[in-house]
Amino acid sequence: MIAVGVPKVSGYIRDLISEVKTHNQGEPEFHQAVTEVFESLDPVLERRPEYRAARILERLVEPDRVLMFRVPWQDDEGTIHVNRGFRIEMSSAIGPYKGGLRFHPSVNLGILKFLAFEQVLKNSLTTLPMGGGKGGSDFDPKGKSDNEVMRFCQSFMTELSRHIGPDTDVPAGDIGVGGREIGYLFGQYKRIRNEFTGVLTGKGLNWGGSLIRPEATGYGAVYFAAEMLATRGETLEGKTCLVSGSGNVAQYTVEKLLQLGAKPVTLSDSSGYIYDEKGIDAEKLAFLMDLKNVRRGRIREFTDKFKGAVYIPVDPSHDYNPLWTHKAQCAFPSATQNEISGKDAEHLLDAGVYVVSEGANMPTTLEGVERFLAARILYAPGKAANAGGVATSGLEMSQNSMRLSWTREEVDDRLHKIMQAIHKACWETADQFGVKGNYVIGANIAGFLKVADAMMDQGLV
Ligand code: NDP
Repeated sequence: MIAVGVPKVSGYIRDLISEVKTHNQGEPEFHQAVTEVFESLDPVLERRPEYRAARILERLVEPDRVLMFRVPWQDDEGTIHVNRGFRIEMSSAIGPYKGGLRFHPSVNLGILKFLAFEQVLKNSLTTLPMGGGKGGSDFDPKGKSDNEVMRFCQSFMTELSRHIGPDTDVPAGDIGVGGREIGYLFGQYKRIRNEFTGVLTGKGLNWGGSLIRPEATGYGAVYFAAEMLATRGETLEGKTCLVSGSGNVAQYTVEKLLQLGAKPVTLSDSSGYIYDEKGIDAEKLAFLMDLKNVRRGRIREFTDKFKGAVYIPVDPSHDYNPLWTHKAQCAFPSATQNEISGKDAEHLLDAGVYVVSEGANMPTTLEGVERFLAARILYAPGKAANAGGVATSGLEMSQNSMRLSWTREEVDDRLHKIMQAIHKACWETADQFGVKGNYVIGANIAGFLKVADAMMDQGLV
C-alpha cells in the first residue's frame, strides 16, 4: 500500500511482512492487518531505533498464547455436533486481555488473529488499561433454538473458563454474540467457578452490565465521524449516509445518526440490502430492531412493511456491492471484514462520499484504503472509529470493580470524551509524523507507541 505523504516502506519492514506470511500460512486476513500496520511504522523506527533492537514488531505478531479446543453440543433432536473454539491471548502489555467472541461459520485461526492484533492497538488508543485478545467459534447461531444456543455456550465456556478471569482475560460480544449469548456464557462461568465477577462485558443491566454498552460501538463511530467533519467546519446534519450490516453496530449507528440530524438510507445482511430513499427514521429503526433482535428475521422483510424501500439481493461472488453506489456524503461500513473492495471504494468516491467511519473491523481491503487515502477524504479506520465499544467495556469493568453503576448520561459523556480523545490522538500523531489528516497512520502509530513502550519497560517477555 502506498500511504499518502509517507516515505517508501523500508527493506526491514518488507522482510518482516514476508516473514509473517511465511510463518502464518493460510491466514490472509492476518497478513492484511499486519501489512497495513507495519507499513505505517518506518517513521517511528527511525526515531526510536531501540524498538528494532528489542524486536518489538517480531514479538507483537506472535500471540502470548493461542487456545484451540473442542466444543461438543447436542441439538434439540439429540444429534451431537462438534465445533471448534478459540481464544487468542495476543498481548497483555498494558492490561488484561480484552476483546470479543465471534460465533460465525467463517471463523478460523487467521481471522481471529487479525482481530486480536487490531484489538491490541485499538485498546491502546482508548486510553484505558486493556491488553488485546479475541476468540470465538465456527458455530452458527442462525436458525438455532434458544436451548441449542444455550447448550453450545455452556460447552464453550466449560473449557474457556479455565483461561479467563476479571484480571486475566475479559471477553465480550462480536458478530453472533449478543446479550443472549453473553448471558448463557456468564451463567456457566459462574456455575463452574462459583464467583460473580466482571469476567465478561456486555452483561445484562440487572446483573452487572453498563448502560450504553449496547449502543457504544455505533454511537462511537458516529461521534468519530462528527469529529472528522468538525476539522472542516461541518456537521452531520442533513448528510445522507450509507450504513451496512443490520446488527448491533449498524442499529446504533443509525440511532445516533438520526439524533444528529443525518439521513441513513441503507442497511444490509449477508443476503442483500435495503435502500430507502426517504431515509430510515425512528419508526423504521424500531421495526428493524424488533425484526433482528427479537424475531431474528432477515433484512428483506423490511420491505414487506415499508413499501417505499427496495430490497436488493447481493451476490457475494461479485467484486463489488451495489450498496456502495448510492449517492451520499458519508459511509459507515458496519458488517464485516473486507466488505469494501477497491472497486467499491471507487464507487463510493464517485457517489460523492467523503466521510468513511468504520464500525466494523477492517471492512476495507488494502486496495480500498489506498484509494481513500489518495482521494484525501475523511477516512477513519476501524481500530480508531469503532473503539467506543471496547472503551465502554472498559467502563463496565471499572463499574464492576467499584460495585456501582453510572447513569446513562455519565457513561455516554465518558464515551463521547474518549472518542474525542482518540480523534485528537490520531490527528496530532499524523501531524507530528508529517502526514496531516491521515487517520490510518495516526491511529497505527498512536496505538503502537504505548504498547511498545510498555514492552520496553517490562523486559524480554
Ligand atoms: P452482529 O452479529 O450484531 O451483526 C453483524 C451484521 O453483519 C449482520 O447484519 C450480519 O448479517 C452482517 N454480516 C456478518 N457477516 C457477514 C458477511 N460475511 N457478509 C455480509 N454481511 C455479514 O455483529 P456486530 O454488529 O456486533 O459486529 C459488526 C462488525 O462490527 C464486526 O466487524 C465486528 O467485529 C465489529 N465490531 C463490533 C463491536 C461490538 O461492540 N459489537 C465492537 C467493535 C467492532 P447476517 O445476519 O446475514 O449474518
